[in-house]
Amino acid sequence: MDGYIDEIIKHSANACSRINNFSQDVLKTRGGRIGSGMGLLIEALWGYYMNIELTDQPIEIGWFPDHQYNDFVCLKKGEDWVPETGQGEVCRIEVKSMNSGADESKAHFDVLQKEIDPIDLLLVITWEWKKLDDHHFFPYINDHFIGLAHDIIKLRDSLHITRGGIFTDHTNCEEDCNCDIDECLYYGEPLNSSSKRERITGPPKTRPSEKVAYAANFGGLLRMIKTSSEDSRNKFREIRKSNLTAHNYISFIHRNFAAEELNQFTKEEWLVVAKSYEVNFDNSLSKQEIYTIVKSNPDYQERLKNLL
Ligand SMILES: [Zn+2]
Repeated sequence: MDGYIDEIIKHSANACSRINNFSQDVLKTRGGRIGSGMGLLIEALWGYYMNIELTDQPIEIGWFPDHQYNDFVCLKKGEDWVPETGQGEVCRIEVKSMNSGADESKAHFDVLQKEIDPIDLLLVITWEWKKLDDHHFFPYINDHFIGLAHDIIKLRDSLHITRGGIFTDHTNCEEDCNCDIDECLYYGEPLNSSSKRERITGPPKTRPSEKVAYAANFGGLLRMIKTSSEDSRNKFREIRKSNLTAHNYISFIHRNFAAEELNQFTKEEWLVVAKSYEVNFDNSLSKQEIYTIVKSNPDYQERLKNLL
């Protein structure tokens, strides 16, 4: 299976390049606005172009009939597929897209660990409206992340806990679900630091208010890697160092949302990395100036991981 997973990851970048070529030819438009639904179209195109990429491979991408159409499955060619049992499947793929120009993405990755398999993948695409000529724009994929979803779940959930969040189990569940005997019905549901549920499927007694059914901050693609305390900063670094998928995800988000990366570290920390390139680096520069210089080194995110 691992070999197939590697093939999917390997071909994804090419699929994105193919989408960009298609997009420039066919999806060019006057104007171009956020909230246009273009993200969903790009997500679907990934499936089609992956199948062109995988022409010579024994696997192909399919769609889930019972899920949202943008949830993909990787299947073995020529074998029957039974979604209920997973027969014929290599893995499942959750797809999210973000517009680089939007302040905070609406996309959330809030699936629970128990809901997906250890070999399932998460794909996140960032795109923007790119100028084609004086009058036309086209949606352009500037970057993408693909990796094992469980690794991102571990990163997300560990940081959730350092923010004072918890996960429902039989020791804290207040619902009438007999969970002192059987496994809790709401097992693994995230509650925030105010003990309110983050997903609509969380314990009903923990809904934030009469009007608000659930908090919906959990799994925000940018928000989930933000850190606010020493505890969460330490956890962030520990996981970034020890898990390559987590490092790749953090690097991907920070590459595309520079303000997030700048704020993740203190000026002193940016100086540590700057001085690793140049021992006599000018201390009097501003944090932003230091960041801009550090960022000009292609390997700076490796150093952020290794030095901080
Ligand atoms: Zn329970």
